[in-house]
Amino acid sequence: MTDLRDLYQEVILDHSKRPRNFGELSAATHHAAGHNPLCGDTVSVELLVEGDRVTEVRFTGSGCAISRASASLMTATIKGKSLAEVESVFGRFHDLVTGATTDVLGDAESLGKLQVFAGVKEFPMRVKCATLAWHTLHAALHREAAPVTTE
Ligand code: ZN
Repeated sequence: MTDLRDLYQEVILDHSKRPRNFGELSAATHHAAGHNPLCGDTVSVELLVEGDRVTEVRFTGSGCAISRASASLMTATIKGKSLAEVESVFGRFHDLVTGATTDVLGDAESLGKLQVFAGVKEFPMRVKCATLAWHTLHAALHREAAPVTTE
C-alpha cells in the first residue's frame, strides 16, 4: 500500500509541476471559470467541441498541487472523448473522490490515472480542490454563465 501511495504522490506531483494542456485555447467553443474559495484555487477551462466530441481542451489558473494536478489529469483524460463519455467519467470521478461509490475497485480501474485522487475522500477540504476543474468543465459544456464556486 505504501508503494501505491508513493506512486499516487508521484503522479500528482508530476502533473502539478508540469501540467498538461496548460494555456489558452484561441478557437474555444465552450469555456467556464471556477473558484474554490476555501483553498484559493482558480481554474479556467476552454474546450473545442466538434460534433459530439471534445477535440481540444486547455486550462489556466493557479492553486494548490491537488487542484493543478486534477485539472491537468482532467484535460488529459477527456481529450478526444465524446460528450457522453465525458459525462460518464465525471460522474464516476465524483463518486470516487466523495466516497459515494460502492464499487471502488471496478470504478478505480475504469478511471485509469484518475484513481490517484481516491485518497482525497478522507480530506473533505481536498475534495473541493480535486473536483473544481471537473465542475468547471461541466459548467462549460452546459454553457452555464455564472462562475463556478465550490461553495
Ligand atoms: Zn486547493
